[in-house]
Amino acid sequence: MQKARADRPVRNPPLDSAWHAEPPDAVIEAFATRADGLDPAEASRRLASQGANELPAPPRVHPLLRFLGQFNSSLIYFLLLASVAAAMLGHIIDATVIVAAVLINAIVGYVQEGRAERALDAIRDMIAPHAIVLRGGERHSVDAREIVPGDIVALEAGDKVPADLRIVRARGLLADEAILTGESVAVEKRERRVPADAPLGDRFSMLYSGTLVATGQAIGVAVATGAQTEIGRISALLSRVSPLTTPLLKQIDHFGRLFTWFAISMAAIVYAFAVLFRGYAWVDALLVVVALAVGAIPEGLPAVITITLAIGVQRMAARNAVVRRLPAVETLGATSVICSDKTGTLTRNEMTARRVTTASGETLVTGSGYAPDGVLESGSPSEEARDRLFLAAHLCNDAEVVERDGQWRVVGDPMEGALATLAAKGGLHAETIREQWSRIDEIPFDARHRFMATLHEGPGGQRRVFVKGAPERVIGMCRAQAQDGSETAIDMDDWSARIAHAASQGERVLAFAEMPARPDTERLSFDAVQNGDLVLLGTVGLIDPPREEAVEAIAACRSAGIAVKMITGDHVGTAAAIARQLAIADDPVAVEGREIDAVSDDELRGLVGRVSVFARTTPEHKLRIVRALQAEGHIVAMTGDGVNDAPALKQADVGVAMGRKGTEAAKEAAEMVLVDDNFASIVAAVQEGRTVYDNIRKVIAWTLPTNGGETLCVILAIAFGLALPMTPVQILWVNLVTEVTLGLVLAFERSEPSVMRRPPRRRDEPILSRFLVWRVVLVSLLFTAGVFFVYEYAMRQGLGEAAARTMVVNTLVVMEIFYLFNVRYLHTTSFSLIGAMGTPAVLGAIAAVVAAQLAFTYAPFMHSLFGSAPISFADGLLIVGIGVALMVVLEAEKAAMRRLMPSALAA
Ligand code: ADP
Ligand code: MG
Repeated sequence: MQKARADRPVRNPPLDSAWHAEPPDAVIEAFATRADGLDPAEASRRLASQGANELPAPPRVHPLLRFLGQFNSSLIYFLLLASVAAAMLGHIIDATVIVAAVLINAIVGYVQEGRAERALDAIRDMIAPHAIVLRGGERHSVDAREIVPGDIVALEAGDKVPADLRIVRARGLLADEAILTGESVAVEKRERRVPADAPLGDRFSMLYSGTLVATGQAIGVAVATGAQTEIGRISALLSRVSPLTTPLLKQIDHFGRLFTWFAISMAAIVYAFAVLFRGYAWVDALLVVVALAVGAIPEGLPAVITITLAIGVQRMAARNAVVRRLPAVETLGATSVICSDKTGTLTRNEMTARRVTTASGETLVTGSGYAPDGVLESGSPSEEARDRLFLAAHLCNDAEVVERDGQWRVVGDPMEGALATLAAKGGLHAETIREQWSRIDEIPFDARHRFMATLHEGPGGQRRVFVKGAPERVIGMCRAQAQDGSETAIDMDDWSARIAHAASQGERVLAFAEMPARPDTERLSFDAVQNGDLVLLGTVGLIDPPREEAVEAIAACRSAGIAVKMITGDHVGTAAAIARQLAIADDPVAVEGREIDAVSDDELRGLVGRVSVFARTTPEHKLRIVRALQAEGHIVAMTGDGVNDAPALKQADVGVAMGRKGTEAAKEAAEMVLVDDNFASIVAAVQEGRTVYDNIRKVIAWTLPTNGGETLCVILAIAFGLALPMTPVQILWVNLVTEVTLGLVLAFERSEPSVMRRPPRRRDEPILSRFLVWRVVLVSLLFTAGVFFVYEYAMRQGLGEAAARTMVVNTLVVMEIFYLFNVRYLHTTSFSLIGAMGTPAVLGAIAAVVAAQLAFTYAPFMHSLFGSAPISFADGLLIVGIGVALMVVLEAEKAAMRRLMPSALAA
């Protein structure tokens, strides 16, 4: 290896050379770095001079274009056309009001969409990738953006390569370079140089930024970062921003277009009818028809629904669930099964070793946490096999426990941390041991083979292999057991009974073994371990208490009709014990992975419903379990963290990756990432998902009757030859004033109390359920009745047309306000203290609408613009009275529905 050269800082390390054709040492030298990493000070210098390791942000759509985009809908074209027609006919006020309505809609849409996009950007940053680099001889986990050319980067299976790297050391390394080369089969990578003219796909000595490590481990030196990387050069391809759309939004867009054409054709019919049979002048009839169409079309709806989704994403993020793909927001609300990992998700992943078992007896360990100050139970004599087990526990281990500010913490896997603590309690001194026994090679732990092995050189040049792993796996590889300084035959029954006993207490059991290796052994192979000379040292039982939040979250799931399945690599006894503590099911049924192997896909469909614990599974089992559940009609959320979990995460309706212990590969495959790895966060996301769906239904349930009522009024007036109760501009005014205020607040509604007490909605359930359609029709009719009643009343009182119409407009707005309170609780009564008080958003919107209505009624310039006229206080009271009456009728209807057809309400 190259000698230290960090003392000769290089301002601009060479870029753009054929590093794949150079030997690793030469690359390290060229970048003035060392095998154990850059000096931290030099790294920050390079960061300052070279810039952050990130791709330039994709060019944003110009604000003006984004604003113009708001006008791009058939609906708006129609309105603008109508305003041109009105202007040409000399109705300047009407034309102006239409244009104002369109403009205000566009501005609100523009502002809200911008806010939603910024919020989503911020959320994306919450899961920015990290990378392990060596700096000054120490391993650091840094933000991938801080990597500089010359950094030594360590990677393992599942990592995303953070920069272009020249490989310095590779172990069983396969890289998935599909994003760069389109080649979907993982490519083998190694240290050896390749010809300078090798094409990108054949540069086996390089790892490229943005690709994934499929298996193995690697160390490499960064030769290009940020825009200089291969992916940076083609980043134009990647700058496609994912559009803010979901199946539901598309469904609603489609519905909106249909509705627009329906409204326009209906308007045409009404037009013909008015001119031919009612003797309207064609100009007047045109204006009426415009009013009709304007009244009928819910122009604000798509924008409000987009905003509702974006708010849902924000709320989920606040509860530690980061949505990577927007459609997941909808799917979450329909989730009927959650399949979850155990360790760290349902349990705390704060492990403590409780029990050490050797062939000649058992030792209990006291103490909690990672501080090495518990004791081995008094009276248990020091024993040779146990001490050897402690040595194995310390050496076959990648974690470290460190004391910082009086607190003991683990760097690495908590279970391995607990084992390091155990070794310390057993009297081993960490630093001394590590100096005496240097590690030469290892076989990393993998959920598929369920053990880990290390090869060490110890005092006097002796070499030894240490193994730890799932007990049946390790014992199966052992030739004998260590007992009182000699070796005896393994008593399988005895061990099985002891392991089963520890597991039934919820302990995770690990077995330890060792064997000598020849002094010239450099590499540890699978075969050598499996067919070797292993001697069983004993087992350790570790406890990992369930998370308290998980207990609550599981109870919430059960009341919400969502089944919870635990899928774990752990022992079936341990898993079942934890499942009982968590109350996953009344009497949880557990099966092992090999039982899944033994059944066909069809049989598995029958099995998955009954079973709630799947133990000793491999990631491949997850895929079959998801498919079986989906075949049974379930909507499945599935957690995962490793590279091998990616297929199951993709298959699941909602793939959920762990933010902390999850690999980048799992995160890329997932729809959602849990920042805190906590099961309760999934359930929180489901609740928010249900709330989003509820709110969308509320927005629709509120918006459509408003349009329906207005339309019906116009149609009835023309059909029966009555005077129009409202003028076209007044209809526009009502839509303008209410849609972007009252309509929008429903997007911000909190969950209804019953949200997690009803069953999940069916996947194919239409958004306009029968109940909703009935609701829209009923409320439209009530609105119409209210309008005609007030108009008739005012005319009979001799108030004149202007005042009568003003009363109608006010009545319509007041009815909308009261109806808003009714709609806020679709599932329960709105006659409650919280129901009546409303949220700040609701109250603010109402205040704005009331102020606008007061101006409409009493401000002189409004009179000339809209043809309104002042009304008396008593008439105002009457209008509020109508609103109250509407509320009473609708609450009575809701109560009757709840009693008679509870299922209709739930749907
Ligand atoms: P879980 O689903 O609980 O996360 P894993 O797949 O991580 O389970 O582990 C399955 C089994 O593999 C564990 O019960 C344990 O016996 C063994 N095991 C887990 N981690 C390690 C490790 N780092 N070294 C050796 N064995 C391990
Ligand atoms: Mg695990």
